Amino acid sequence: MTDRQSSVLVVEDEESFVDALVVGLEREGFKVRVARDGIQAIELFDRFQPDLVLLDLMLPRLSGLDVCQSIRSRSAVPIIILTAKGTEVDTVVGLEVGADDYVVKPFRMRELVARMRAVLRRQTAATGAAPTTRPEVVTVGAISLDTSKHEVTVAGSEVKLPLKEFELLELLLVNAGRVLTRDTLIDRVWGPDYVGDTKTLDVHIKRLRSRIDTDPSASSLITTIRGLGYRFDTKTRQRS
Ligand code: CA
Repeated sequence: MTDRQSSVLVVEDEESFVDALVVGLEREGFKVRVARDGIQAIELFDRFQPDLVLLDLMLPRLSGLDVCQSIRSRSAVPIIILTAKGTEVDTVVGLEVGADDYVVKPFRMRELVARMRAVLRRQTAATGAAPTTRPEVVTVGAISLDTSKHEVTVAGSEVKLPLKEFELLELLLVNAGRVLTRDTLIDRVWGPDYVGDTKTLDVHIKRLRSRIDTDPSASSLITTIRGLGYRFDTKTRQRS
């Protein structure tokens, strides 16, 4: 079966290894993006939605296992762990938190590509098409968002949201409990070509908070992570 070029996110911090890997994968016809630490991996995953992730476990800033768990909680994308000899425990944990397969370093390019094509085939067979993970209704705590009806309810009452605020909220809810960087939010809501003031994001967040934070005595459902971005809190303070 020949289809469009598959895209791969390579998450690996060893420079010499990355270079060889990228050259090899591009030669095999893959479109390749590289993340060099765990935080960047999640950012790039959100921005580019690759067809497959090759994930090293020993990474700066956020471990490969955390990256694996985070990606898996929001997507069915195939994940292959690139593991060094003697890290069997991590590999097993990696499979438990949702990786599809693993390849032990050093490996031959041919072996890696065969594994990649195998998980991509299984993915296509399982879903019948490119993976899509966008649910129609997302509910976190008292907030519920329905993409098909373009409707938001807070504790059962409908709240009208302008388009950008709706899109922001959807992104935050789908990724509830995780930090979304400013760049990711701007890219996904305003598009990668957006050149306006990044204050726009803060203004929209502020408006969104004024509509969904119904308890004035509690802190906002949307937490500001200084210097990084925003996170929708999963531990919502529901009052019955
Ligand atoms: Ca590494």
